[in-house]
Amino acid sequence: MDKDKHNDNNHQKIRASLALAAVSALEPAAQSQVEAHLESCEPCRKEFSALRGLASELRVLPPPVLAFGLAQRTSARVRAELAARSERRRHNLVLLMVTVFAWIDTLIILAIARMFGNDIARLLHVSDSQLTFGFVVYWLVAVAATVALTGHVGRVHRQRRLV
Ligand SMILES: [Zn+2]
Repeated sequence: MDKDKHNDNNHQKIRASLALAAVSALEPAAQSQVEAHLESCEPCRKEFSALRGLASELRVLPPPVLAFGLAQRTSARVRAELAARSERRRHNLVLLMVTVFAWIDTLIILAIARMFGNDIARLLHVSDSQLTFGFVVYWLVAVAATVALTGHVGRVHRQRRLV
């Protein structure tokens, strides 16, 4: 009876370390204890050989370090994507500011033209209509410059993203 009980206790203990024994991860003393128990315990022997089979299948799988490398690469890609997204936001903000400044500039020029148009026309020895024409040309150039600048910024931005 006592021996059975001891064996049962031993069985429970061995059972818990069978997985480690199957991958030879136990201390040599514990390993040989498990092997000794397997001689006399069929359930443990079956479990052990099943675990052994599983362990050898796992060894065929790529080592965890590869999976870890994949995780690193994936997280690097996610970080790059997030950085690109925040750069796009910054880029859009720059475009917005350029556009706003161009419009403020245009409005200031138009206000000046309205207030001092006659004086400026006299100063430059041009007629009012010539001055108005000049302002329209200036405005068109300003718009064209804004479009060109934002296009250039966009190109630079795209080129940097390709690098
Ligand atoms: Zn057992």
